[in-house]
Amino acid sequence: MKIVYHPRYTEVYASDPAASGGRMEAILKELEGKYDFVEPQAASEDDLKRIHSQYHIESIRRDRHLYDIACLAAGGAIKAAQMAMEGEVSFGLIRPPGHHASSDHCWGFCYFNNIAVALARLRSETLIESVLILDFDLHFGDGTNNIFSGGKVKYFHPEARNCEEFVEQIANRFQEEEGYSILAVSAGFDRHIEDWGGLLATDDYRTIGDLIKEAAEKNCKGRRFGVLEGGYNHGVLGKNVKAFLEGFG
Ligand SMILES: [Zn+2]
Repeated sequence: MKIVYHPRYTEVYASDPAASGGRMEAILKELEGKYDFVEPQAASEDDLKRIHSQYHIESIRRDRHLYDIACLAAGGAIKAAQMAMEGEVSFGLIRPPGHHASSDHCWGFCYFNNIAVALARLRSETLIESVLILDFDLHFGDGTNNIFSGGKVKYFHPEARNCEEFVEQIANRFQEEEGYSILAVSAGFDRHIEDWGGLLATDDYRTIGDLIKEAAEKNCKGRRFGVLEGGYNHGVLGKNVKAFLEGFG
């Protein structure tokens, strides 16, 4: 498994918690030396246009710094998706996150929908047909859901009252789904017991990673990639990402 990462992701491009200083460093500290890192290129405007309106692209471009980092994040997701298609499991350690970005608007610390831009690129090259997206972030990825509603990309965001139920929901959904070309994961870590959601233990992320690996190996030749979404407690974020990747890889 490889980590897709660009040094510019450490830059503070906005004043929201996803953009805060030290957040990427907290994860890097746990992953460096354990995995190979691959540097992506920025997504092109053509890549963005497959998902976003010209109006939306221009509105983000008004802040050139933000635009550059957001294009690098989308490019990181593209790279992770391409590697997954080539048989290399990959994780995009990217920011800003993307799942609250719709075609024409965005909120919740998101600007471009990274996972959607990546999947649209694969589809434009007719590499994939149907997709299953698991989003285990605390928050519902309204952007991803809006972009893909009614199509061949299925979006799944589990909700539960406790961690056992949460993990079970994912396992059950994986039992029901089959015939997808790739499994894509919006990996947000803000549902951790010491983060905003207060629900999942660090070990639960390893279990979720295991379930994804098993489902992908059974259904889509193991093709899977994840991208970072939320996760705001720098004191636990790194070990949660590490636990997830131990199962996922
Ligand atoms: Zn979130």
